[in-house]
Amino acid sequence: MIDAHPTTDFDPAKFWNLPAGTKIARTDLAIHGTCSKCTEAKS
Ligand SMILES: [Zn+2]
Repeated sequence: MIDAHPTTDFDPAKFWNLPAGTKIARTDLAIHGTCSKCTEAKS
């Protein structure tokens, strides 16, 4: 598991359609997949 960082300034309130006035305290986003190293190790 690795940390991933957005390539541009990321504003969750603009990206997702949230009720007006919603205050985001924390964002957890899980991206499931396999990196090239893991793909090589399994093949
Ligand atoms: Zn990997």
